[in-house]
Amino acid sequence: MNLLRPNIAAMAGYVPGLQPPDAERWIKLNTNENPYSPSPRVREAILVELGNAGETLRKYPDPGSRLMREAAARLYGFPVEWVITANGSDELLNNLIRACAGEGEEIGYIHPSYSYYATLAEIQGAKVRTFGLTDDFRIKDFPERYDGRLLFLTTPHAPLGFAFPLEYIDELARRCAGVLVIDEAYVDFAEFTALELVKKYANVVVTRTFSKSYSLAGMRLGLAVARPEIVAALDKIRDHYHLDRLALAAASAALGDQPHLQATVARIRATRARFCAGLQQLGYAVIPSQANFVFASPPDRNGKRIYDALHARKILVRYFADPLLAHGMRITIGTDAEMDATLVALKEIG
Ligand SMILES: *Cc1c(COP(=O)(O)O)cnc(C)c1O
Repeated sequence: MNLLRPNIAAMAGYVPGLQPPDAERWIKLNTNENPYSPSPRVREAILVELGNAGETLRKYPDPGSRLMREAAARLYGFPVEWVITANGSDELLNNLIRACAGEGEEIGYIHPSYSYYATLAEIQGAKVRTFGLTDDFRIKDFPERYDGRLLFLTTPHAPLGFAFPLEYIDELARRCAGVLVIDEAYVDFAEFTALELVKKYANVVVTRTFSKSYSLAGMRLGLAVARPEIVAALDKIRDHYHLDRLALAAASAALGDQPHLQATVARIRATRARFCAGLQQLGYAVIPSQANFVFASPPDRNGKRIYDALHARKILVRYFADPLLAHGMRITIGTDAEMDATLVALKEIG
């Protein structure tokens, strides 16, 4: 007897970027982690929450993430009923599919973009429709009226780094019959957010993560802003204690320290500008980036050759074998020193 659902037995599973066990010996530019520490208030809040002997851990955390939701609602200018928290924004992407798309129903996303959408659809047994990108970074052949249950839009786009213009996202929201999920994992590094569209259209959900701009990939924190009906549905299907006490303390502290966020984001953006200029001097084609990474292609358009040569020098970047992406690499913006070392290595490699 087959113990597994056929789609689960057949699926490959998501492969996250490499986390080398000897990470300190690498310049690690492959998973878009932030090179700077989180706000010092995060550490303080975690220590306070932990108590002297860790005695608070005896008790369950707040199942409603009240303080974190209130902090986010204040920051973004929405009522608290419009905000839901998550164990990393990946949890929200998963629950959005579970809430909106039944087995055999269609979800759409752009290819290339975040490949985890495909894995989640496979688990659910949802049908998938992928849309390509035009040369000027719009969705190719997007229908006047898209009937899929969900459309995932990563903006700023990963792994290419550009952002879709707000008027264009607005138009997509109108053309989607189902939910438009705007995955804003990188938006703190960008020039604008699409949050206002949540107020304008009932079918728009914006997801955010603390993994990149807030330097908290290790805490697993995310959130979404959406209409209360959608938030209530997502609330019903999540694990009731999805965020632990330390994560909740960290989240409120991080949201409460906007000057720290702005300072680290400004540093990364300045380094991004310098690094892109350096790449261009070496003859690389660089897509203007609104994120904390850049997608760059060497003159011979052989991403694998550069990836391997960097790897041999203990510099780890992200190479995608997909034919649409094999001409380049995605490189996370690290510290100035890390990016300078990377430019020196690229020059050597030639
Ligand atoms: C990193 C990333 C996420 C996941 O964020 P987590 O909060 O770490 O789960 C979601 N979407 C995109 C496009 C990302 O790059």
